[in-house]
Amino acid sequence: VGDSKAFDREVRSVCPYCGVGCQLSFKIKDEKIAWVDGVEGPANESRLCVKGRFGFDYIHHPHRLTKPLIRREDAPPKGLNVDPANPLGHFREATWGEAIAAAAGKFGALKERWGGRSVAGFGSAKCSNEEAYLFQKLIRQGFGHNNVDHCTRLCHASSVAALIENVGSGAVTATFNEIENADVAIVIGANPTENHPVAATYFKQFAKRGGKLIVMDPRAQALRRQASHMLQFRPGTDVALLNAIMHVIVEEKLYDRQYVEGFTEGFFEFRDHIKGFPPEKMADLCGIDAGTIRDVARTFADAKAGMIFWGMGVSQHIHGTDNARCLISLALLCGHVGRPGTGLHPLRGQNNVQGASDAGLIPQMMPDYHPVADAEVRDLFRHIWDGAEISPEPGLTVVEIMDGIYRGQIRGLYVMGENPAMSDPDVEHARKALARLEHLVVQDVFLTETANFADVILPASAWPEKTGTATNTNRQVQMGRKALNPPGEARADWRIVIDMANAMGLDWDYDHPREVFAEMKMSMRSLHHITWKRLEQENAVMYPCLSTEDPGQPVVFGDGFPRRAGRAKFTPARVTPPAEAPDAAYPMILTTGRQLEHWHTGSMTRRASVLDAVEPEANASLHPSTLRKMGVRPGEMIRIETRRGAIEIMAREDRAVAPDMVFLPFAYVEAAANVLTNPQLDPWGKIPEFKFSACRVAPAGER
Ligand code: SF4
Repeated sequence: VGDSKAFDREVRSVCPYCGVGCQLSFKIKDEKIAWVDGVEGPANESRLCVKGRFGFDYIHHPHRLTKPLIRREDAPPKGLNVDPANPLGHFREATWGEAIAAAAGKFGALKERWGGRSVAGFGSAKCSNEEAYLFQKLIRQGFGHNNVDHCTRLCHASSVAALIENVGSGAVTATFNEIENADVAIVIGANPTENHPVAATYFKQFAKRGGKLIVMDPRAQALRRQASHMLQFRPGTDVALLNAIMHVIVEEKLYDRQYVEGFTEGFFEFRDHIKGFPPEKMADLCGIDAGTIRDVARTFADAKAGMIFWGMGVSQHIHGTDNARCLISLALLCGHVGRPGTGLHPLRGQNNVQGASDAGLIPQMMPDYHPVADAEVRDLFRHIWDGAEISPEPGLTVVEIMDGIYRGQIRGLYVMGENPAMSDPDVEHARKALARLEHLVVQDVFLTETANFADVILPASAWPEKTGTATNTNRQVQMGRKALNPPGEARADWRIVIDMANAMGLDWDYDHPREVFAEMKMSMRSLHHITWKRLEQENAVMYPCLSTEDPGQPVVFGDGFPRRAGRAKFTPARVTPPAEAPDAAYPMILTTGRQLEHWHTGSMTRRASVLDAVEPEANASLHPSTLRKMGVRPGEMIRIETRRGAIEIMAREDRAVAPDMVFLPFAYVEAAANVLTNPQLDPWGKIPEFKFSACRVAPAGER
């Protein structure tokens, strides 16, 4: 921290890490980010966490890609074998013209020979709304198919599926800041202290002023210290636990009958279904005693205003959509939607996963969730996109695209800012798929694990090096401003996508992201009354926005839902066991997630000096009793094995983890958690079961 003389200029922007969307000010000295301050944004009120404050010197890291690269003809076979500090043994430097021609030309040839279904794209929730929009437009218009997806498939696709099905909208019904007006809040399958740290400060304040905080999680997490109830339930039993809570609310007639009659449908079928879930019958399965379940049910139902927050502990299961359906039913049952201090809030992970989804980086949805199969929708986009023909066939999702490579269906892949060679489940399967591709183009700021497999690498801009908007978990569309130029010949992602489109024969003409934003508004009602000019002046505007003066609506659906007859729906959820139950060979449960200091696959935060210094090494968390039983001391190496593979990693003692569990962060390539994870998918959200794999653990060197 320094005084105003210590910097040359300051640029107001948004943090590019998590979905909280904290507003900040980059202090620039000698064309470098000298430090960062939090500023008064609607989500953060000047607060920042460690990543927002200290997570930016990665942009000055010597590993930055500064020139386009093309794979050498005499390069070794594709694999995780490229030195990011010296990639020239595998790649040669190229001009932009040559690289774009090679990248786009081969996609064109594959499309010509095998059709548009043979090529696919992964966009990124780390890019701006305008970049996400352009990317899906390129895949649909240029590649000629809807094979476009992004990391929402790996985090909240099941939550969105359940919300669209039952509420009619995939976004949150209330901001997290609304907790200020609540009496009770449930936080389930989320660890905000680590993953949404600034949001967690609001949750703690809520508890401090007397709000009842009900935390439900198979890991006992830091928020338990503020919790009125901490339910450390058995992993994978969410549906049984939530149905038992709702059983009590119905049985004891605690539900909001007037609300249920006035605003919902499907109640009677739902009521009959949950009769089969008395707490006394579910207690053993969930590991929570019936009395606690009844107390939680009464506490939530009796509150004047209640909110429900959830994270990937809910969504990343083969029953993730059913888990989210239960949470929606619970809120509807108690009438805890549409009023101040009430609402449903899936805490979105990446900084712009809400915006990237809104902008159409989804294989079955055009921007604003218009179904691609709908002829009227395609007509609208044909009109906006100068007569472009859009395939009516929904595309493949992230994991399906990887499987499609093995089947020979997908032959070319364009990856903008994602890292599937680290983030996909059963990642060795994904890496082998990447190696099989006839054509892989990777656009990124570093030579990521995925870029190791590329045929062409396009050097892109980091977030502080470009202007664009991003939409946080609260539905707040916020302005990110360029603070620095990209290094060397690196370019802004939106500019590269336009170059790719034009090299594929499209005639795109955008000079600035504001022109893209204006086009987005033509099909996206969510952006009604939100203009580029307003965002420049006000920094953030929330949707829905009712007028040019309205800052946006923090709470929605007070007067009905965007569904048939304005009613939300109860969808009964069955108990589905995890895809892979522990057994004699694999007796323990592996779960994965993030750490406070590291972001996702670590490509940025492991190159941020302070963050890397605080958390430099891969580690697995186990209960002290589990380590004792194995004769392992904290800091010693252990071997973790599942049916997909094995890794060796340093053991860390953590009482928050149950004795039959292991927790692994997935940011470390040297002990990649996703070597172990299960790729089985939720049938609705198509999200993999990252949160539950059967595993065995032993001291390293032992089998
Ligand atoms: Fe950035 Fe999220 Fe931390 Fe805010 S809470 S500073 S958005 S990482």
